[in-house]
Amino acid sequence: MSGISSALISAMIATILAVPALAQAPVQPPALPPSAQPPSGQPPSGQPPSTQQPSAQPPSAQPSPPPFATIKVEGTDNVYIFRYGGHQSMFVVTPQGVIATDPIAYLRPQAAKTYIEEIQKITKAPIRYVIYSHHHYDHIAGGKPFKDLGARFVAHKNARARLAALKYPDVVIPDQTVDQKTTLRLGGTALELIYVGRNHSDNSLVMRLPKEKIIFTVDFIPIQTLQFRNIPDNASPIELEESLKKVLALDWERMIPGHPYAGGRLGTKKDVEDHLAYLQELSAEVKKAADAGKCIDAAMREIKLPKYESWANYGQFLPMNIERYCYWWGRGF
Ligand SMILES: [Zn+2]
Repeated sequence: MSGISSALISAMIATILAVPALAQAPVQPPALPPSAQPPSGQPPSGQPPSTQQPSAQPPSAQPSPPPFATIKVEGTDNVYIFRYGGHQSMFVVTPQGVIATDPIAYLRPQAAKTYIEEIQKITKAPIRYVIYSHHHYDHIAGGKPFKDLGARFVAHKNARARLAALKYPDVVIPDQTVDQKTTLRLGGTALELIYVGRNHSDNSLVMRLPKEKIIFTVDFIPIQTLQFRNIPDNASPIELEESLKKVLALDWERMIPGHPYAGGRLGTKKDVEDHLAYLQELSAEVKKAADAGKCIDAAMREIKLPKYESWANYGQFLPMNIERYCYWWGRGF
């Protein structure tokens, strides 16, 4: 625990929640634990510096982190993480072009411009693909600059259907869709796009690099962090648990997440097992409370899971995570 105060975290979350447009879609908060440190060693930020409140920073706080950073994943030749504010995206560079993922430019067009500039510092090869992790705007809005460069957009079929219905003006509609699984091949790199069922959305893709044994997953497996608010946009929290089991059954060693959790480190299978255990323990506690007639409000007040109190967002989101399971065990939906 160092570097950034809970007051600052609260201020950042308050800033995000105060943006009216963000409230219209399920979005991820900064989700940074108090101990979070991005790879640069600087304190984290859920927002670009322009929206930070310097007055919320205690005198001992470290300087603001850079608004963005690009790092090559250790031990790989061509796998990179681009972070802008509190969001992250993976990209893969090959001699035949670049496979980019989430534009992460919702309400901040500069993020997509910077993302492209960062790629072009590494390679002059064209950006051939943009893959959406899932359809939530905070990860995939703002992709037009990639489209203008000729990139082909790929997403799960449910993402395209949802986006076509929503017609949000700053979202590029996918050109190509995935059902259960597709393997993209470009310049000697294979990237699998795998659907593991409904979880945090009905269209989350796990992106797996089989040679590097790396996966990129967004929002549905927070590392040492609770689920977002009342776990919106899932049909059943049990399906969410099932999708984590499917991720565990895949062959991989390191997981790049869509937000810099737990100090900005990569995730491991142990992190997925831990998150699944959290959900299962929460589910069991809430089921008992539901059977005792305590759902919804009494359960939200009374249930505690002290084992997880060091996880990010425990104080803020535990009652809401309970609420989601209360609907399930106490109401059947
Ligand atoms: Zn999301």
